[in-house]
Amino acid sequence: MSSKWLFPSEIDELVGLLERDNPLVHGGGTGIPRGRVRSSEVVVDLGRMGWDRCYEDGKDILLGATCSFSRTVEELSRIRPGHILVSALSQAASTPLRNRITLGGSVAFFPLWSDLMGPLLALGASVDLVGTVSGRYPIDHFVSNRGLFRGSVIRSIVVPDVPMDGWYYREVRVGFDYPGFTMTLLAQRDGEVLADFRGACVGTKERFKVFNDVSESLKGIRYGDVDVNAVAEKLDLDFPDKKSGSGEYFGQVAKVWFERGLAELLER
Ligand SMILES: Cc1cc2nc3c(=O)[nH]c(=O)nc-3n(C[C@H](O)[C@H](O)[C@H](O)COP(=O)(O)OP(=O)(O)OC[C@H]3O[C@@H](n4cnc5c(N)ncnc54)[C@H](O)[C@@H]3O)c2cc1C
Repeated sequence: MSSKWLFPSEIDELVGLLERDNPLVHGGGTGIPRGRVRSSEVVVDLGRMGWDRCYEDGKDILLGATCSFSRTVEELSRIRPGHILVSALSQAASTPLRNRITLGGSVAFFPLWSDLMGPLLALGASVDLVGTVSGRYPIDHFVSNRGLFRGSVIRSIVVPDVPMDGWYYREVRVGFDYPGFTMTLLAQRDGEVLADFRGACVGTKERFKVFNDVSESLKGIRYGDVDVNAVAEKLDLDFPDKKSGSGEYFGQVAKVWFERGLAELLER
């Protein structure tokens, strides 16, 4: 079957297509198997929707869903240099792939090796949807309940604009490998005290783990009083066996990197 490719440029046109044709939505196309394109009657490419900018509105940073990883790095480096997403996305995959992979496609697809999702989950981002369901939804709710959002498209990703020190690690053997897991840690200092701490690990058995318990236990603690080893030891991380190592191996390695990351953040 030959598919019909459509390139809407207006929201009404896009929503009409979503409601009427149940199309295959195309972002960067790096996660869509060729067979799926062939078997879809209608493919809707989002490239003309104008969702390829990042900006801040005084409270949040809005990342357009069709921004490629490279574009996001470029735009965020301009408005928030040193942002955790800049360090995470600039390490993902290879340059040609970073030029194609979009933010919206990466949230919708959420591969276990995602370099995007850890920072977004740790930051408490939301997705802004149009289509059958529209409006803003917390990203953890969106990725854990995909069935509720069928017929909707991500227009942008909304990231709280909070100044935090960030630390990012991807577990790979060589740079362009799919990471076995990624670890994102964020800390906000208020004098000698850890005012806020957040973190997320992507690639676990349940796909991801947001460190809410650790965040609660560390908030308000004096920097010098944090027992980094004890915090890492208590981490509850369960990994599946992967080609690059057993689940048990990844569990140990993840704890070591958490410990190193937290120690580095506390020393800043
Ligand atoms: C060789 C290779 C290596 C890779 N390495 C990495 C890596 O190291 N780190 C990393 O983070 N990623 C990596 N990726 C990218 C990742 O695996 C996915 O291919 C990518 O995240 C999909 O994004 P996309 O924009 O290409 O989405 P697409 O392929 O266009 O779409 C993927 C899915 O999302 C849906 N979709 C697309 N856009 C939207 C939207 N706006 N709203 C709702 N649904 C939408 C599509 O319908 C489809 O179901 C790699 C990919 C390849 C091929």
